[in-house]
Amino acid sequence: MLVVTKFGGSSLSCATQFAKVKKIVESDAKRKIVVVSALGKRDSSDTKITDLLYILHAHIKYGVPYDDIWNMIYDRFVEIQTELNITCEIEEDLKIIKDELNPSISLDYLVSRGEYLTARLMSSYLGYQFVDAKNLICFSYDGKIDYKMTEKKVRLAFSEYGIMVVPGFYGAYPNGSVKLFSRGGSDVTGSILAMCLNVSLYENWTDVSGILAADPKIIDQPRAIKEITYAELRELSYMGANVLHEETVFPVQSLNIPINLKNTNIPEDPGTIIKNDCADVSSNVTGIAGRKDFVAFTISKNHMSNEIGLLRKALTIFEKYNVSVEHIPSGIDSFSVVVAKDTVEKCQYDIITELKQALGADVTLDSDIALVAVVGRNMAKKSGICGTIFSTLGEKKISVKLLAQGPSELNIIIGISVSDYETALKALYETLMR
Ligand code: ASP
Repeated sequence: MLVVTKFGGSSLSCATQFAKVKKIVESDAKRKIVVVSALGKRDSSDTKITDLLYILHAHIKYGVPYDDIWNMIYDRFVEIQTELNITCEIEEDLKIIKDELNPSISLDYLVSRGEYLTARLMSSYLGYQFVDAKNLICFSYDGKIDYKMTEKKVRLAFSEYGIMVVPGFYGAYPNGSVKLFSRGGSDVTGSILAMCLNVSLYENWTDVSGILAADPKIIDQPRAIKEITYAELRELSYMGANVLHEETVFPVQSLNIPINLKNTNIPEDPGTIIKNDCADVSSNVTGIAGRKDFVAFTISKNHMSNEIGLLRKALTIFEKYNVSVEHIPSGIDSFSVVVAKDTVEKCQYDIITELKQALGADVTLDSDIALVAVVGRNMAKKSGICGTIFSTLGEKKISVKLLAQGPSELNIIIGISVSDYETALKALYETLMR
């Protein structure tokens, strides 16, 4: 049995955190593949190494003196090495990078040095082999992962070394130049390695004990979710729950490799398990999430229900403006097209004009829409949940502007006024989840 174990930046912010990581890795011999992010913040006023590297690149590019920033980066790595007495050549590694700093240095390469240096330190500290992600994670020139080549290289490295530390967040094009994932991408590195080695578990360690059932900035001490399916996670993440990088799930889902989200600071907490087949039926609702930033174009026309092709014509206009459509609640002689506000900020009036012209319909715009998603695999085929949602919102005098339920009955989405958002979330959490 094998486990891929990934640690995020907050688990790697200082010597104390490094020591916790070591204890965790050593407590289970299955943890043979360790993936690390770059050193994170030590406290809320601190700056992540990745952010410092982005700033450093901007300074170099625009000819602004950068010694102070470089020294901050340098000191953080050397401090951990010194405090833990790690016998690796981090100062030599840093010197090589310093010598490479020039206005044409690639942004991806420079920023990837955060994970690279962190992995150098960690591999030496754990006594694991350092394996550079640039020799494992293969991108084709179109920016997509070449899974076949990646799997070959990962399997080869694992059979050669048996235990290894791999820096997250980057890979390389066929010519060897470094390419970053988008921010938070070390999660994806871990997931790809888990898939390539078909491991029994992918652990993802952060500073929270798993996924919370609602936003703790709004709900006082929401419960942690014990088990969640990949599909539920996707619904919750899409609706604003900020958990894993959104591309994390795909590689492991196909092999049904569970992801366990754990807390480095409280390792005994079970955290959250994400997998296909969850057995826990203790709650109908798994989580509640939401986003405030939607608009609805409502298109009305007499006898619309007799006209064929109207919806297609409308959607073609949204497609032309490259706007992704979120929901289409409909009535007999009207339907609404709900989209994220930022996607139509510059083109909303052009869209209205074109809709009116092409459809000969009235078009109105409602820019005051928040969506709340109630998500739960156990809601399917249960009666009364919509009833509870409506009566809860009704008691709070919140008017429901639109309602959508996916065909899989995995989620119920309610559109309300932005000013009602927090009240709705609190009331729904109390009735559905406490
Ligand atoms: N260090 C990178 C970031 O801050 C990648 C990661 O942590 O996953 O986005």
